Amino acid sequence: MPDNASIYPANLREHVDVQACNTLALPARARYFLRATTATELAGAIAWARARQLPLLVLGGGSNVVLRGDWPGLVLQIGVEGRYIETDTGNPDSVRVTVGAGENWHVLVQWSLQQQLYGLENLTLIPGTVGAAPIQNIGAYGVELQSRLECVRGFELPAADSAPFDANAKLIELSAVQCRLGYRDSIFKHQLRGRFVIVEVVLRLARTFAPVLDYPPLNTLHAPDAALVERTVRELRQSKLPDPAVLPNVGSFFKNPVVDSAHFAALAKQYADIPSYPAPSGVKLPAAWLVDRCGWKGRRHGSVGVHDRQALVLVNHAGAAADRAAAGELLALAAAIQADVLRVFGVQLELEPTIYGEQGSDSSR
Ligand code: FAD
Ligand code: NAP
Repeated sequence: MPDNASIYPANLREHVDVQACNTLALPARARYFLRATTATELAGAIAWARARQLPLLVLGGGSNVVLRGDWPGLVLQIGVEGRYIETDTGNPDSVRVTVGAGENWHVLVQWSLQQQLYGLENLTLIPGTVGAAPIQNIGAYGVELQSRLECVRGFELPAADSAPFDANAKLIELSAVQCRLGYRDSIFKHQLRGRFVIVEVVLRLARTFAPVLDYPPLNTLHAPDAALVERTVRELRQSKLPDPAVLPNVGSFFKNPVVDSAHFAALAKQYADIPSYPAPSGVKLPAAWLVDRCGWKGRRHGSVGVHDRQALVLVNHAGAAADRAAAGELLALAAAIQADVLRVFGVQLELEPTIYGEQGSDSSR
């Protein structure tokens, strides 16, 4: 064990209730819990946990995770703050903004608009932290983080669970290309799954507003300014999506599937009204339509259910009163929906949130 890994981290707490740390409000406890506000504190805590071979669960706002049970290791909540603007001397319209991973994403979007920095307006009101945004390459209303990300900086953990981590390790930079961002996907869900802790994110924003208006109802706006685009998206989201503080949820529970053109042609023959969008590798189908068509919208299963206005959103009706059976009910509901969609449409829906289990394992299938 490296000397610097033996120091018991200040602010470390034991047997901590983390129900309020996940927006599904699923009851769970962390054996160890630390909210780290600096890179040094983070590195020290990672080194300490690694030296004891404790599984690490990195949490931001908990708005894209399903906690299936207690976490036997360390839950590390990222609280690193800070925002720093740098103008590109070669191109005065282009601005680099470095942001601490623990900053709130929506607050960052509002702040960027106040600074007259553009590019994030379509991504308003997405819950969670800045550091989690690259993990699934957050996207909404025709914009994905991918088109605004320059790089991330963070700590890379050795692949072997038993390998130590040096508390004096330096931050490693990964360019946007190295992050291998895709549709709700990145390297952090594959090769670097659970092995890269993002400490700061560098965005590339513009001083000139270039609207992205492909999605309805943005496509009906006439020469909008950034504030109007942001307000339109925000109001639409507020009208369609349940507020996790009122009805706990993690947003979309399933990704939109992409099928090949032959599969789509067969479906279109049978379902003339099936919506579709071109995608790089085939045809994208709205998962919400598939789930709705199978009759799931608004249905309940024990204390959980499918939201009555948005079939992609699974909700915890019991809220803070949810018991330990709720996570199992939720995953059983998701599995029943997946089975129905597969049976009816021949389409395998993939889960969007990451599931963290009692054994220290995690999965998103
Ligand atoms: P968490 O849930 O805490 O973590 C998510 C994953 O990222 C976990 O695997 C965690 O280990 C990892 N992680 C978190 N922080 C770090 C870090 N610093 N370093 C390394 N790994 C980290 N998503 C969209 O893409 N588009 C949307 O429009 C959208 N709308 C939503 C609406 C609602 C109402 C809700 C509840 C969710 C929505 N989401 C959406 C999903 C979610 O908000 C995003 O995925 C968000 O980026 C998650 O941030 P978080 O901080 O809560 O991450
Ligand atoms: P919607 O407008 O009802 O459309 C349903 C789906 O069709 C969307 O998921 C979207 O795919 C796709 N779509 C619509 N117009 C499109 C276009 N012009 N080009 C390509 N694809 C198009 O969707 P919604 O549920 O209200 O969500 C609106 C946006 O917010 C979407 O981008 C959605 O991804 C995002 N959102 C995400 C979450 C989450 O948790 N991940 C939660 C709420 C909202 P895409 O999803 O690929 O964009």
